[in-house]
Order: sequence, then structure tokens, then C-alpha cells
Amino acid sequence: MSVKPAEQVFSREQFDGILRRRFFYAPSFDLYGGVSGLYDYGPAGCSLQANIIDLWKRHFILEEDMLEVDCTALTPHEVLKTSGHVDKFADWMCRDLKTGEIFRADHLVEEVLEARLKGDKEARGIAHEPIEESEDKKKRKKKVKEIKAIKLEDSVVQEYETVLAKIDGYSGLELGDIIKKYEIGNPATGGPLEPPIEFNLMFETSIGPSGQLRGFLRPETAQGQFLNFNKLLDCNNNKMPFASASVGKSFRNEISPRAGLLRVREFLMAEIEHFVDPKDKSHPRFHEVKDIKIRALPKDVQAAGSTDLTEITLGDAVSTGMIDNETLGYFVGRIYLFMCKIGMDESRMRFRQHMANEMAHYASDCWDCELQSSYGWVECVGCADRSAYDLSVHSARTNQKLVVREALEEPIVVNEFEVDIDKKKFGPRYRRDAGKVEQWLLNRTQCEREDLAAELAKNGKIVAKIPDVAEPVEIESSLVNIEKRERKEHVREYVPNVIEPSFGIGRILYSLLEHSFWNRPEDADRSVLSFVPRIAPSKVLVVPLSSNAQFTPLVTQLTRELRKAHISAKVDDSSASIGKRYARNDEMGTPFGITIDFQTVSDGTVTIRERDTTEQRRGTIPDVIAAVRAMVFEGATWDEGTAKLAKFEGQEA
Ligand code: AMP
Repeated sequence: MSVKPAEQVFSREQFDGILRRRFFYAPSFDLYGGVSGLYDYGPAGCSLQANIIDLWKRHFILEEDMLEVDCTALTPHEVLKTSGHVDKFADWMCRDLKTGEIFRADHLVEEVLEARLKGDKEARGIAHEPIEESEDKKKRKKKVKEIKAIKLEDSVVQEYETVLAKIDGYSGLELGDIIKKYEIGNPATGGPLEPPIEFNLMFETSIGPSGQLRGFLRPETAQGQFLNFNKLLDCNNNKMPFASASVGKSFRNEISPRAGLLRVREFLMAEIEHFVDPKDKSHPRFHEVKDIKIRALPKDVQAAGSTDLTEITLGDAVSTGMIDNETLGYFVGRIYLFMCKIGMDESRMRFRQHMANEMAHYASDCWDCELQSSYGWVECVGCADRSAYDLSVHSARTNQKLVVREALEEPIVVNEFEVDIDKKKFGPRYRRDAGKVEQWLLNRTQCEREDLAAELAKNGKIVAKIPDVAEPVEIESSLVNIEKRERKEHVREYVPNVIEPSFGIGRILYSLLEHSFWNRPEDADRSVLSFVPRIAPSKVLVVPLSSNAQFTPLVTQLTRELRKAHISAKVDDSSASIGKRYARNDEMGTPFGITIDFQTVSDGTVTIRERDTTEQRRGTIPDVIAAVRAMVFEGATWDEGTAKLAKFEGQEA
């Protein structure tokens, strides 16, 4: 139905103009000059975000019967130390010692090599993409020495392309080597930079007035879900598999926020933790998504320095091992369907697999849903198999079991190392540390127990460094016995694995705005945001033909009826022409316009206009409202929804 042209040059100026004028979002604190990476959403942005979240909750939480939680954003240091965030949640940055400027190392390499490749294309007379740069890039570009029409050796072009394809997978050391090898300096001055150093992205604070309890603003919502695992399993009547879900703000002190909403310091996340048996990662509904064709960028293709996409069905991707397991494949499919449902342009969506060195050490596979915008391809959803890592580390740290217990039909015989502690001697020997030493021993894995048993046999004692105990502890064989025994088990106990789809709502919202934006070919100044009705901030614009007093009660009646039918509407009774009022509203992405004219006064009928085609139909108010309801809430197309209404020409002037 849409008359959106297939190809159109993207105008950032026009696009940004709409976002500003219609107040989708704007820099926070702009009266004070703004703070980079912080944004406020206006009424249109709030509504759009609320509609995306509403559909997300229906598509995931309702459809899969997930357990929703809402956890606090303030997190004690200990929790994030255990999860690994205190030590590892960092990016690499380089400092220019002379100017004090700071650059995120991977972004710097990317920016400079891309600029050199563009310069090479210019020198060879090859047209390069007319993608517009962001404001901050433009400002810097004025001074950037790198963007010059300089021809590069063919082998250098190949090397740069390989580095760019692998950019997400480099360690700090490797980035340092690349910066040195390709003589990358401060893009503005050319001055040398310090080797990359790690910068932790969490915002630190203290909880309470004493300043003693260190804490952080959470960098993801996941930890709250892991810590509530036992309660959630109980809520689910101890049945596996199951998923929890959470929507909430996360905070990351990004080194260089850029590209509007795409890299910010505070953002809304919607995260799912699907808990699954590590021995069985099949999914009972996988057949529903197996025929979906995705555009995939697997890790081996990237490792070979290419970004060529492979079209593959999810069924084939899982059966060939490209995607590690059915549950991960199922969620990739559900993410794809969600994106299509909210109106994302499918041809600008791809799934990129993490390379081995890019993935967290505990993850077994990870696929990002990336969306293309004028800023290039950006990860908007991460979908990772986090294995049993989080539950295991929290369990070891707190000495609380985070496990599933399942009764076995047939008992099994197990041969395992068991730890016997002489509790009578333990108390007097270790005093207030007795509990910590005991839990430490009981929490050892089978491999560790085997080593400890050998140490006991050899030395007659174990020497261990135990968390929160200042000195290394000696545990003599008179206090503990570790030996392998055979026993019958009637219950299987295991730590579940976690498949985690993690959505950045701001990135999705921004990409959707760009994917929905176009100009009418007949009038380049008229822009449209083609949101699907379900997602559009407001569904209906009510326009009285003129300021004639006879229309006023009809406007009141119509808006009351629309409210009753749960359809959000706005009235534009300004003196502008109907055409101008519609055009203004096309910029807001409102899918339908209802006009009240003199015929309404005489026979109670109104016209309804579709935003993209500007087609119009006429009918009674109840029939038009029923049509809007069908198109907004039941997914009916314009032709299906308005089948009962008469065709109408005119009034768009
Ligand atoms: P991650 O935990 O890093 O995989 O991030 C999960 C999701 O959060 C990503 O797919 C993004 O959509 C979103 N995200 C991460 N960092 C930012 C940021 N600085 N600004 C906006 N969204 C972000």
C-alpha cells in the first residue's frame, strides 16, 4: 500500500528537523549546554517508546508466558564484582597527552581507516557512499588530516578492509599494534596517542549516608533476574525451561557517546533470561520459526575479512551448526518477527555472529541483530548463550544453591568426591571464619575436590586462600576428609544455562524512525514517517474542515467515541488548510486523518484518509471507528479495514 519510493537519498537535515520540531527527543539540559550521551524524550517519543514496549511485552512476555520482574538499578559493588563487571566491563581508550583528548580505540581505528579508504576511492575516481556524517564527525572532519584523495596500495586497501571486518574482535593490545602499524594519531592534529588503556563503563556511587556501601548504577538488567532465580523457579512451580523478563533503565559511562540515541549513557533495555537444561537446548516451538530466512554474517566469514551476507533459513542454520542450538535459533527467529511487526525494513536487518575473541569467555554462541541506518550497521539486540556462568558465580559467592532439582525415573549410580567436615573441631579452630571455610570446601567442584584430596594425602593439609578471610587458611586432615564414594541418586540437580536476548529500546526506536522516514516524490519538502498503525504515537488526526461553529459538537462527539474505543487521537482545528494540516501530521507518522465537513452535519458521515497513499473513504462515525480499530489493533490492511466504506475523492488542498 505504501507509496514510499524504493531508493531515496537520506537528508539528515530534514530528518533531524522533524525530530526536533515534533519533539521526539532532544538533548537533556540543553539550556545549560547539554551533556553528551543524555537525552529527554518528548510526547511523540514517549508514545512511540511506550507502543514499542507494549508490543514487545505482548510478543515475548505474553506469548511465551514469561515471568516479568522489575529490579532496582542501584547495585552493590559485591554483586557486580562477582558477575565480572567490576573487572571486565570496560572499553579501550587512547589519550592524546598534548591536547588531553580521549578516543575510544576501536572507534578511532574505524573512523581513520574508513576515511583513508574514502580518500583512496576519491583518488581512483570511484564513487563512494553518500552517507552523511553526524554533527560531531563533521566538526572533526574539518580538521581531519586523514580525508585526502590519496591512493593506497591495493594490498593496503585489502588490509584495511580486513581490519574493519574484524574490528569488534580486537583486544587492547591488538588495537595498540594496529594504531602503531598504520600510524594512526589524533585525527585532528595528527599528534601521537598513548597506547590503549582500559576504562570501566560503570557509574560508581555509594549507597546510604555512611559512604561505606559502594555501589554502581546497573549496566544491564540481567543481574537482578539471576539473583531472583530461586523465587522465579518457585513461581513457575519448579518447571523448566522458563524465562524471566525485565524492562528498565541501564547506565554506561560511554567513552565517546555519538550518533544520537545509538550510543548514550542512560538507556532503556528489555532483557529476557531463558533458563534451559544444559543437556537439552531443543525448543518445542522451533518448528514455528525454522523456515524464516535471515541474512546472516557468520563468524568465519568475518574472520576471513569479509562482510558478505548469507541468506539461510533458521532450520538450516541450526542443523548445520552455524547457530549453536535450537533455543538460540528460536529467539533469533522471534527477534526477526518482532522487528518486522514494529515495521522495521527487513532489507536493512542482519544477524551478525560474534567472533570467538569478541564473546565473553563463558558464552558459547552469540548473535546480534544489527540494523542499518545512516550511521552504518549497529547492534540493536544481542542474543547470547551465557551458559551457566552467572548462576554459578553468584552461587559460589553467596553459598546459596541456584539449581534445578528433578526427580529421576530411574535412580543413577554416581561416583563422586565427597567432603566430610569435623564440625566439632572446626568451630574452635577457625572461630568466626569457620562458616566461610566450611562453605568454601563444600562449594568446590569435582575437579577441585580431586586436587584437594591429593593435596591432603600428600601434605596432610590443604592451604587455601578463602574470600573475605585475610590470611591463607591451613586445613589439616584431622579436620576434613575428601574421598571418592559411590552413591545412588534419585534426584538430578543442575545449574541451568541461560539464553539471553537483550534489546536496546533507544537504538530500535532510532532505527525505526530512519526506516520509516521518506519524502513525497512529488514534493521533496513533504516528509512522512510511515509507522505501522500499532506503533504510531497517535493513531488519528481529527480535522474540522473550517472553524465553523457547527463542527465543534461533532469534534467533541468524535473524540469522545475514539477515546471510548481506546484509540489515541489529536485534534487540529487551526486555520491552516486541510492539506497543510495533513502534511504536518504526516511528519508525526499519524496513520489516519478523519475530517468533519458540512456533509457530517447533515448525514453524520466523515472521511478517513490513509497517510502514505493519501487515499480517502467515507462512512458513518461508528463504521469509521470500527475500521480504525481493525487496522490498529487487529492488523487489518487499509483495504480490509475500510472494505465497508465508500470511496471518496477531494478535500486534500
Ligand atoms: P550488550 O549488553 O552490550 O550486548 O547490550 C545490549 C543492548 O543494549 C545492545 O544490543 C544495544 O541495543 C543496547 N546498548 C548497549 N549499549 C548502549 C548504549 N551506550 N546506548 C544505547 N544502547 C545501548
